[in-house]
Amino acid sequence: MSRAWTSAWPQLAAAGLLAALLAVGGALASLLPSGAPRCPAGGAWVVLDPGHGGDDPGAVNAAAGLVERDLALDIANRAATLLRQDGYGVALTRTDDQTGMANTPRGRIANACRALAYVSVHLNSFDQPDPDYARTLWGIAAKDRAFAETMQAALVGRLAPGTALGDGGLDQLENGGLLTARMPAILVEPVFLSNPDEARLLAEPSGARRQAIAQAIADGVDAWLRSESAVPARPGSSVSPFAAVRPTDRLIGPARGSAGRAMAAAVAVGAERPDDVRAYIDEVYRLAPEVGLDPAVVVAQSALETDWWRSPAWVEHLNPAGIGITGPDAKSPDWPTGSDAARAQIVHLYLYAVGSVPKDGTLGRFVALDPRYDAALDAGRAGSAPTLAALAGRWAADPAYAESIARVAREMFGGG
Ligand SMILES: [Zn+2]
Repeated sequence: MSRAWTSAWPQLAAAGLLAALLAVGGALASLLPSGAPRCPAGGAWVVLDPGHGGDDPGAVNAAAGLVERDLALDIANRAATLLRQDGYGVALTRTDDQTGMANTPRGRIANACRALAYVSVHLNSFDQPDPDYARTLWGIAAKDRAFAETMQAALVGRLAPGTALGDGGLDQLENGGLLTARMPAILVEPVFLSNPDEARLLAEPSGARRQAIAQAIADGVDAWLRSESAVPARPGSSVSPFAAVRPTDRLIGPARGSAGRAMAAAVAVGAERPDDVRAYIDEVYRLAPEVGLDPAVVVAQSALETDWWRSPAWVEHLNPAGIGITGPDAKSPDWPTGSDAARAQIVHLYLYAVGSVPKDGTLGRFVALDPRYDAALDAGRAGSAPTLAALAGRWAADPAYAESIARVAREMFGGG
């Protein structure tokens, strides 16, 4: 994702400086502040954290030759592959067994990725051989608990059948990673590596048990990101995020839906240029509420106009909403980033919904991103479409334009 990469540049420059300083004297290194954690994938929707690592092996079953550090990495790698096959961007907090770190930086990595979900992968262990049950831990109830419930159901549902694995339920854990991560964050302990039957399964060369655990984790993440609960509560909003978008709705109104929900829907349909889609959706949910536009309407209009970000206008030009495509042969203008595409659409919609954009206001500096701003102004569009319904015949020729946007919004966000 472009924004995360941009913020990484100063650190790359700092790394060059550090290398120069190290050439002078290694002792200087201890005086330098350590940089903020970076997102290893340059932005990811899901961050998986293989527990332990480096000098910390976690639990060990010496008789079976099992080390939690190594198993957690293997399972997290398998789950990442499965989630990527589903279209989710995934980053891991560590990708080898030599890297170790405390728990808090793991949560910071998830924040740097602006992830939608964080899962720390562990295996359980006990000093008696008998116990074997799945357990999911959460840090902050309001943020994590609903995700933990979804994940626990996925673990038990996929891993218990045909085995003696029990359901250990949920528990709270004051783990630095869970407490630091700003998004829904959980720690899973799917099985006990100290249980001899389970250890035999985990050690199988086929890797079938480890693959099943990875599949259960991927299922849990996918189910969560598709669920209504994944929509964050928005304090201060009088409108439910699930309130259905209707053709008669005003464009200026309380924010509905959520960026996370919109992105999960985009992934589910196979949106193209997903990093740009993400930047686009993030910017809509940041900027539109600032100027009073309902971001759910903005994003739904874009999904309709771009066939869920799969049309040539999106893929080749990052055109978010048919801006400047005045006829079948008209060439689309280009936007360099998903964020700029969002700004242009918001400027253009604001002009229709309210009127000309105040030069010294929030949107003023983005007017230049809208190549059709002056043309729309000259055509008398300013303030001409306060409602979705009024966009028909003005933004688009389709008389059912408002109904189509409302339908897409319901597909994306639900709502009764
Ligand atoms: Zn552990």
